[in-house]
Amino acid sequence: MTQANRFDAIVVGSGITGGWAAKDLCEKGLRTLVLEAGRDIVPERDYVEHVAPWEMHFRGRGDRRKLAAEQPIQKECYACDEMGSRFFVNDIENPYTQSEGTDFKWIRGRQVGGRSITWGRQVYRWSDLDFEANAKDGHGVDWPIRYADIAPWYSYVEKFVGVTGKREGLSQLPDGEFQKPMDLTCVEEHVRGVLASKFNDGRILTIGRAAVLTEALNGRGACHYCGPCERGCITRSYFSSPNATLPAARRTKRMTLRPNSVVESMIFDATTRRVTGVRVLDAVTMQAREYHAKVVFLCASTLESTRILLNSKSPEFPDGLANSSGELGRNLMDHTMGGRASGTFDGWSDKVSYGRRPNGIYVPRFRNVKAQHPDFLRGYGMQGGGSRGRVNADDTPGFGTEYKQALRAWGPWGFSLGGWGECLPNHDNKVMLDAARTDKWGIPALRIDCTWGENDVKLVKDASRSAAEMLEAAGAHDIRTEDTPTQMGLCIHEMGTARMGRDPKTSVLNGWNQAWDALNLFVTDGACMASSGCQNPSITYMALTARAVDHAVEELKRRNL
Ligand SMILES: Cc1cc2nc3c(=O)[nH]c(=O)nc-3n(C[C@H](O)[C@H](O)[C@H](O)COP(=O)(O)OP(=O)(O)OC[C@H]3O[C@@H](n4cnc5c(N)ncnc54)[C@H](O)[C@@H]3O)c2cc1C
Ligand code: SF4
Repeated sequence: MTQANRFDAIVVGSGITGGWAAKDLCEKGLRTLVLEAGRDIVPERDYVEHVAPWEMHFRGRGDRRKLAAEQPIQKECYACDEMGSRFFVNDIENPYTQSEGTDFKWIRGRQVGGRSITWGRQVYRWSDLDFEANAKDGHGVDWPIRYADIAPWYSYVEKFVGVTGKREGLSQLPDGEFQKPMDLTCVEEHVRGVLASKFNDGRILTIGRAAVLTEALNGRGACHYCGPCERGCITRSYFSSPNATLPAARRTKRMTLRPNSVVESMIFDATTRRVTGVRVLDAVTMQAREYHAKVVFLCASTLESTRILLNSKSPEFPDGLANSSGELGRNLMDHTMGGRASGTFDGWSDKVSYGRRPNGIYVPRFRNVKAQHPDFLRGYGMQGGGSRGRVNADDTPGFGTEYKQALRAWGPWGFSLGGWGECLPNHDNKVMLDAARTDKWGIPALRIDCTWGENDVKLVKDASRSAAEMLEAAGAHDIRTEDTPTQMGLCIHEMGTARMGRDPKTSVLNGWNQAWDALNLFVTDGACMASSGCQNPSITYMALTARAVDHAVEELKRRNL
């Protein structure tokens, strides 16, 4: 083994969690190799948020034939349009299969930064309501941690990320380290007042908590409300790996970042019961390499990390590394969406909103916070917003100058509210390797087998009803509702498949994200989640990653790894 192939730490993936692992490992003094399957990203060259519609060949809609041929699954995501599609995978090169009767949309990014470039930046802490839920109602296994274990790490992460939000003092949605909040629109202020005065079950409306700067931080500028964040952000106003964590890691001069490096499997030493390194394929030349380190952080995203583990077979682990419990690949979750309502408001005709606020509103979970609902467990948070746009061109009659003039008129204020529901952990929702299918690099593809459960669907129906109820109470008219769950995967909050737990017989990872079967292997992306909460999960992944890095470094100092 050459010295060039040996590092103190290896991080697999450079997305939201990999960026955090890289930054903290480097800042704590470890020579760290970051292996990223996708191409490099140079913000000055690759970000496209300021390209105007008239400069786009298809005016932003994209080449629909090309999208259908190369990205038939990715195009289901709103952000995979003419400019954004470059930050999503090619579905032909990255296939997966499904069990009959199931339909999981696996939305992925494969480049330096992963999906931190395209994410919606909504960040909400979990509370003990979430960490205690499995133990209380018996679905899934008990989390090995509680809010007190992760709270300082949320603070640590938020201070570096830069989170805009308003403190509300809620037990189910703890406040964080917030920069100044973005403004509500006039109709949102109105609905906030109505929820406070007409409902007595704890409903409130607050401005979204988002990883977007409203004040400059560490050389990153405050947001200028240009709008299409999913295409990059040259002022580094929103948090992403290329905008924040990777530059911090680079500044230490201890990071080696290798794009186009597809990790195929882990190398396990049965004598020491440690992972000694990783097997890698060069994405361009297909050349095989091995890299070695004292600790490995697996941060390739929920299902990719599990795929790597399932593909790491050895005589000791014929069904995949770290799978002595048989739980690897089990308990896949996503958040439910599809329960929503929208309506129109009269009034405020003298007001419009300026700029494109990259944030919406949030109605924190109010179901099953104090009293238990008779029909379902757990709950949902609601996202949406109230805004005023120009009149709809398709509904406006006429042509020529008159028509163009008519299109300049403002339409009424509209409001939409949709639920993001908690999905119960279900042992039968699973992934496995599909021996008959490989990706472009010859690595076995995943087979996904999962569906929504009864409780998940009930949450969608209730979210639709309660959204309509709130809009009606606020005086909206022409209220339209939807209550069909969207396909699994489309919330892009896939979680589970290598869950944390208290017992090595029923979980893959311990309370520090270490694999029970190889203590120097840490899995800190969404694969580790033992339940799904209803909050957007990435800030929890980040806090768990920072906490796990701290533990790994302390264990290395104690010579335990
Ligand atoms: C449009 C959109 C909106 C979203 N909105 C939100 C939101 O508002 N709030 C929220 O909390 N979350 C949101 N998410 C989800 C969020 O992006 C993910 O939870 C988060 O990016 C997960 O971080 P990660 O590090 O696990 O994975 P990723 O960020 O996906 O990064 C994984 C990286 O690993 C690399 N990789 C994969 N396989 C290998 C391999 N074999 N070898 C080497 N490298 C590999 C990938 O190329 C990728 O760069 C959104 C996602 C999308 C797409
Ligand atoms: S709206 Fe703000 S955060 Fe989004 S791309 Fe523009 S400046 Fe960046």
